[in-house]
Amino acid sequence: MNSNDYIALEDQFGAHNYHPLDVVIESGEGVWVFDIEGNKYLDCLSAYSALNQGHVHPEILKALVDQAQKVTLTSRAFRNSQLPLLYKELSEMTGYEMSIPMNSGAEAVETAIKLVRKWAYQVKKIPHYQSEIIVASGNFHGRTVSIISFSTEEFYRKEFGPFTPGFIVAQYGDIESLKSSITANTAAIMLEPIQGEAGVIIPPNGYLKAVKQLCEENNILFVADEIQTGLGRTGKLFACDHEAVRPDLIIIGKALSGGFYPVSAVLADADIMGLFQPGEHGSTFGGSPLGAAVARAALKVIRDENLIEKSELMGKYFMEHLEEIPSKHIKEIRGKGLLIGVELKPEAKGARRFCERLKSLGILAKETHDNVIRFAPPLIIEKETIDWAMPRIAETLMMD
Ligand SMILES: *Cc1c(COP(=O)(O)O)cnc(C)c1O
Repeated sequence: MNSNDYIALEDQFGAHNYHPLDVVIESGEGVWVFDIEGNKYLDCLSAYSALNQGHVHPEILKALVDQAQKVTLTSRAFRNSQLPLLYKELSEMTGYEMSIPMNSGAEAVETAIKLVRKWAYQVKKIPHYQSEIIVASGNFHGRTVSIISFSTEEFYRKEFGPFTPGFIVAQYGDIESLKSSITANTAAIMLEPIQGEAGVIIPPNGYLKAVKQLCEENNILFVADEIQTGLGRTGKLFACDHEAVRPDLIIIGKALSGGFYPVSAVLADADIMGLFQPGEHGSTFGGSPLGAAVARAALKVIRDENLIEKSELMGKYFMEHLEEIPSKHIKEIRGKGLLIGVELKPEAKGARRFCERLKSLGILAKETHDNVIRFAPPLIIEKETIDWAMPRIAETLMMD
């Protein structure tokens, strides 16, 4: 079977809820992937930052295989010998007293919403079922019904209602808009410190600090969705660290498992996390020994290989070289660490055709919305690899 055979099968038997580039990946190693025909590509998407540690990292692979040979799933009806160690290591690494494990990012976001609502009624004493969570325009927090209920992307919502109430949308990056959205019933402000899916949108300097201050003044929880920006992607452990801001809750996922197995979590201190009572929330696979072992190894790789510092250094190097490309199509280059967006002018006729061209030159990147190319390679990328990629990116951006 060749690539076209696989593509035909997928189109016939699979739901068409994605519009992938037509590359059929058969294997991966580090920053590279290989298609069915044996062509080699540099992965500049990293599965939306789930692969910060690179493809098939040998240490995470070993942890997965070792644990899979012992026990994979206990359910939380019983305890297991991996989860307590993950809790402890997460706490030591992040400074939060407690965490709750889930699987997908969206599940962790749902978990944070439930926790915030419980806090609203138990601690802030908001009248029952009146609590509000303020979110940001352009947000992306996942695909469940409650989460798309407060998406501002019409396409993500259209024909999926009725929607979950209790969310107020404020303008992203605009502190006044947040201020005017606060009521006596506001429980939390939830946002991404950098909006990845919206096209690598970085809020004005000082915004996160101002959000945190606003929350403190009004007895509101600050929830940061760091599923994409966390765990080193932006050159800090968390993107909020760029402004030395400590949110009340942080949501992580994606790179928490280095791409092997879905693992997500919500982090908070005991005064908040302690509100969950037995039976009130859970997940069959969440906190499984297999997931916990994989997550522990994924975090260890981030520490042992200094991926946070590498992300900062290589991100700077990548951006500097991008900025040297004299392309008439570029409107703006923005990023932090190795989360980089190249926004094209409307006249460039969309980012997709540039991504197709990059693919033909051996680089996999994906358009984000219509006009942004996102470059987010694994954090293990070497200078030499960026040097290899840059002429190809330049050639692509210089085409007519
Ligand atoms: C990917 C992502 C999610 C959703 O994660 P899933 O694992 O796809 O459910 C939520 N928030 C942000 C910021 C993300 O990038």
